[in-house]
Amino acid sequence: MAIRNIVKEGDEVLRKKSKEVTKIDDKILTLLKDMAETMYKAGGVGLAAPQVGILKRVVVIDTGDGLLELINPVITSAKGEQIEVEGCLSVPGLYAEVKRPAEVEVEALNAKGEKITIKGKELLAVALCHEIDHLDGILFKDKAIRFLDEDELKDSD
Ligand code: ZN
Repeated sequence: MAIRNIVKEGDEVLRKKSKEVTKIDDKILTLLKDMAETMYKAGGVGLAAPQVGILKRVVVIDTGDGLLELINPVITSAKGEQIEVEGCLSVPGLYAEVKRPAEVEVEALNAKGEKITIKGKELLAVALCHEIDHLDGILFKDKAIRFLDEDELKDSD
């Protein structure tokens, strides 16, 4: 396993659309492992492949309930709404309120190539939406309804 370099905003790879994974080979399995390690090291709750410079539809998430490895994730249903503060490992130091669905259902393949359905509420719903947006070149700040100012950032520490 290896820690990969996290691409920062300004790099055009973050604005490109990622390609579907057609074959789960060793390269994809290594990518998943490296992405998980990179996410944990950086203290994030999610990481999408474009954030390590790879334009593949691969996401890892851990909101505290264990690691989710998602290949070709698609949001198949969304309900309600919530407004939460988000940040991004690719946009350090910036935090903003973003409106997201309160609950989502996501279909994806796991690392074994099995079809799985994830139901997410609260932080998991946010993380699923945020990471899947990355696969389409969308950053949370594009959807921000209010950016936090410096005083609020200090308070949240
Ligand atoms: Zn992000």
